[in-house]
Amino acid sequence: MKVLVINAGSSSLKYQFINMDDLSVIAKGLCERIGINDSRLKHTPIGKDTVIIEKDMKDHTDAIGMVIAALTDAEHGVISDMKEISAVGHRVVHGGELFSESVIIDENVKKSIEACIELAPLHNAPNLTGILACEKVIPHAKQVAVFDTAFHQTMPPEAYLYAVPYSYYKEHKIRRYGFHGTSHKYVSQRAAELLGKPLSELKLITLHLGNGSSLAAVKYGKSIDTSMGFTPLAGLIMGTRSGDIDPAICSYIAEKEGIDAKEVTNILNKKSGVLGVSGISSDFRDLEAQADNNARAKLALDMFAYSIKKCIGQYIAAMNGVDALVFTAGVGENNKELRKQMAEELSFFGISIDDEKNAKRGIDIDVSAPDAKVKTLVIPTNEELMIALDTKRLTEN
Ligand code: ADP
Repeated sequence: MKVLVINAGSSSLKYQFINMDDLSVIAKGLCERIGINDSRLKHTPIGKDTVIIEKDMKDHTDAIGMVIAALTDAEHGVISDMKEISAVGHRVVHGGELFSESVIIDENVKKSIEACIELAPLHNAPNLTGILACEKVIPHAKQVAVFDTAFHQTMPPEAYLYAVPYSYYKEHKIRRYGFHGTSHKYVSQRAAELLGKPLSELKLITLHLGNGSSLAAVKYGKSIDTSMGFTPLAGLIMGTRSGDIDPAICSYIAEKEGIDAKEVTNILNKKSGVLGVSGISSDFRDLEAQADNNARAKLALDMFAYSIKKCIGQYIAAMNGVDALVFTAGVGENNKELRKQMAEELSFFGISIDDEKNAKRGIDIDVSAPDAKVKTLVIPTNEELMIALDTKRLTEN
């Protein structure tokens, strides 16, 4: 069985085509500038050179059409007939309270995804467009929606409610939803395998640290708290997002700067975080390169690390213990210094790292020192594989 995984954005569409017999990626690629001029498709059949196909894509239906053409192309294709695409798995960002699991897409599911657009307009609208485009272009294939929010639906009310008038929750659906759920779920399952223990017996803190970052407290296989909130703006300091701030700052900035609430939110999303503090870059590699001779680059990195450390402490408290920290995503997988810093500054809890193991890259690995009471793992995330596995599980029969 072969599954096509789609991650549709407003003007882009990423895909991976996965062979479920051996879980290998057969091809992957990206459509860029959909609906804008100069649109193009970058297609990589695994083991062969990337091809770039420049052609107008006026909408997502055109984009999916190009993806199918690339997959079945005589030269750089990987299948001879699009019927070999057994099913399509879609990343959908927001499932609200309606979805705590991945689902086969039918008319009702589409309506529900549409109902969640108001909660994540920049994401859910293009996600739905991607689904409708696949329906048109690959009508034989069953489709599955995998939600970023679903894994966190197990949080108890004390973790997901905000202390605002309760009617805002009831009427406006204001609560913590959490994001990166597919990644937190994937790495917690892999962590259990690596530790050789059932997930149902483990207390894990999963650290998805990339451009956008979030932590999750995963107790006995269930997310019981996570740092992102009603939107992905909450929690840790991120590349361009502020993370948690005193909410009163918003109206204060609006007044001082003569801007409206929407503009303040935009600044908190796009011009804050380590970019806002450093004034240099949102990219952690740039900041590390300059940290020795630029005080604000160093300050931004220190603030980022401090926000992570505090959140780890909160989740150890929330679960009354922890068996392992699991680092993933761009920064979590690659930045060994940050992992080392966390271990040193949290040594009180019995977290300790082996430098040699910690220097390894690109593999699932336990980097703990032999005497560590709490394990530290590094597990490269694989949201596409998780989406493909759910798609297979739901459509196979
Ligand atoms: P996204 O949230 O966009 O998916 P990623 O998970 O790809 O983000 O993470 C991107 C971040 O990872 C960038 O800020 C980048 O600087 C950082 N990163 C990638 N490689 C390294 C590295 N070797 N050392 C430190 N940071 C890295």
